[in-house]
Amino acid sequence: MAPTDVMDKLVSLAKRRGFVFQSSEIYGGLGSVWDYGPLGVELKRNIKDRWWRAMVQQRDDIEGLDAAILMHPKVWEASGHIAGFTDPLVDCKQCKNRFRADDERLKGPPGAPDTACPVCGNRGTLTAPRMFNLMFKTFMGPVEEAAAVVYLRPETAQGIYVNYLNVLQASRQKIPFGIAQIGKAFRNEITPGNFIFRTREFEQMEMQFFVKPGTEDEWFEFWRAARMQWHQDLGVRQEKLRFHAHTKDELAHYAKAAYDIEYEFPFGWHEFEGVHNRTDFDLSRHQQFSGKKLEYVETATNERFVPCVVETSVGADRTALAVLCDAYHEEEVAGEKRVVLRLHPSLAPVKAAVFPLVNKEGMPEFARRLYHDLRARFNAFYDDSGSIGRRYRRQDEAGTPFGVTVDGQTLQDGTVTVRDRDTLVQVRVAADQLGGHLSERLAA
Ligand SMILES: [Zn+2]
Repeated sequence: MAPTDVMDKLVSLAKRRGFVFQSSEIYGGLGSVWDYGPLGVELKRNIKDRWWRAMVQQRDDIEGLDAAILMHPKVWEASGHIAGFTDPLVDCKQCKNRFRADDERLKGPPGAPDTACPVCGNRGTLTAPRMFNLMFKTFMGPVEEAAAVVYLRPETAQGIYVNYLNVLQASRQKIPFGIAQIGKAFRNEITPGNFIFRTREFEQMEMQFFVKPGTEDEWFEFWRAARMQWHQDLGVRQEKLRFHAHTKDELAHYAKAAYDIEYEFPFGWHEFEGVHNRTDFDLSRHQQFSGKKLEYVETATNERFVPCVVETSVGADRTALAVLCDAYHEEEVAGEKRVVLRLHPSLAPVKAAVFPLVNKEGMPEFARRLYHDLRARFNAFYDDSGSIGRRYRRQDEAGTPFGVTVDGQTLQDGTVTVRDRDTLVQVRVAADQLGGHLSERLAA
């Protein structure tokens, strides 16, 4: 399959089955903003839950946080986002389209009389490149004036830095320790695209690890390996994952080292997580701009220092896309095409679907009871419409690991069939042991 075919099929399946919808679709949509439907919201929650378990609940050296999206405007001066978070842009005075100055479609220098607009074709209508800030701006309070400007955060990390002291004191952690949070961030991207890969509103899962200066390199190596392992544990194929080390030109001015974790999407290798060795830049800047001491005092030695930060930052939406791309398979089963999402069981929106083979002889009643029992353990689904083959295929497309069928034999001996999504192997299991049986296989 050609790469665009795969993406087209995935976008179409995402809409048809209720994973992802275009925002405000009945109004024609809103550029590069997406909504998660009934299956998508479960998938994304499962991704975030796994991250939270691994990064916060299963570690005693990381604390959780949920900082507000709106922050004091000085935060963005300290972080460098007001001065530096900009792209050079070119406007067409004729058609009002806006382009990045490095857009490949621009033939000739923008601003020159002979350069044609790549959209409307007019010559000499393009402005010279101007700097454009990627932060969304709004106003706080009733007056729309410069003093009331606030920004929608372009990253969640700053919420962690400004709470470093609060969390340190409240949790009584000692360095090295981390603070983690999951939350929305916003960037007014000029060239968004590739479905939910680059969007203007997105969700980040970020962890900032505060360490003693001099130990940041070893922690950087630790977190780089740990984060790659996390993606592999989600079942993402190893050959589709790789590191990309930032070259000197790619490195942010404050960063000592940085690695991207890339996935081979149908549209190429792209970063979906970054692991960054940020030195003491962040806390030093906030110390300078706020006038508050953000030093750490080591009790044993009485040594004072501003901690260095190792950051892990991954997109929840990009992870969802990587996982969906990785899970999407088309195959032939008994001469018929089937589409199956081989999602890791822990990520699957629905864990098991229950079907009565036919809608008579007490099978629906039996199946409904079973479904209610299963629902107490995990997300389950009941379906009694259409042929059994069609019902299986619908669940294959939703990534449901197990299909449970109540049939004629069930009424005689109390067993049901359990069909495995990936191997298609069917086994008979006693209905009263079904919950335990499935829970065990889901955890395997
Ligand atoms: Zn134009």
